[in-house]
Amino acid sequence: MDRRTFVEQSVKLAAFTAVAGPVLGAPLAALSFSQVPLPYAKDALEPSIDAMTMDIHYSKHHAAYVKNVNDAINEEKITDASEVDFFSNIQKYSAKARNNGGGAWNHNFFWLNLAPAQAGTAPGGKILDAINGSFGSFDKFKEQFTQAAMTRFGSGWAWLVKEGNQLKVGSTPNQDNPLMSVSDLKGTPLLALDVWEHAYYLKYQNKRNEYVANWWNVVNWNEVASRLG
Ligand code: MN
Repeated sequence: MDRRTFVEQSVKLAAFTAVAGPVLGAPLAALSFSQVPLPYAKDALEPSIDAMTMDIHYSKHHAAYVKNVNDAINEEKITDASEVDFFSNIQKYSAKARNNGGGAWNHNFFWLNLAPAQAGTAPGGKILDAINGSFGSFDKFKEQFTQAAMTRFGSGWAWLVKEGNQLKVGSTPNQDNPLMSVSDLKGTPLLALDVWEHAYYLKYQNKRNEYVANWWNVVNWNEVASRLG
């Protein structure tokens, strides 16, 4: 073929590839959620969080959220380029997309903000300065966060978020998160606590207060500090 025909065909092929995706006949490559690999063994957070709870929580609950949000993304032909874009548009999508998208994202965030207590990470440096600056002291922050976790009625999450130069605590219902357009609590998430009964019921039954108290022992403060930017 001459050069002009070659160029024309290349342009057509490029246009087709962009629409069809890299695999012939596959839908346009869209957002897809996946589970982060756990950065510790399932019994590594004992005794604060027991191995069976970790196993069911990660392998069953979280896995289901990931599968279901990806199904919703396909069914609803959602084409957001990133998770952040997806959450900022969440008011346009179904309850299936919202609940499972939140479930997929929130749990990835949650696993990474935990570490074995022996790792001995304690808040220090810039994250401690930010907490002191916004709450007065670490103890006052802990009190407010615990209260947010304890007063969330039913299922949901407690959060530490950064908004502007301030840190604040709050909670969200169900699997909502502070990145969602529909959330009352807004900001950049720094730390999250799952207060769904599935997160603690096997070990703590109705005693959410004991779960929350012991959870502080396995917070990965290095990770929280890194999210401060
Ligand atoms: Mn959960």
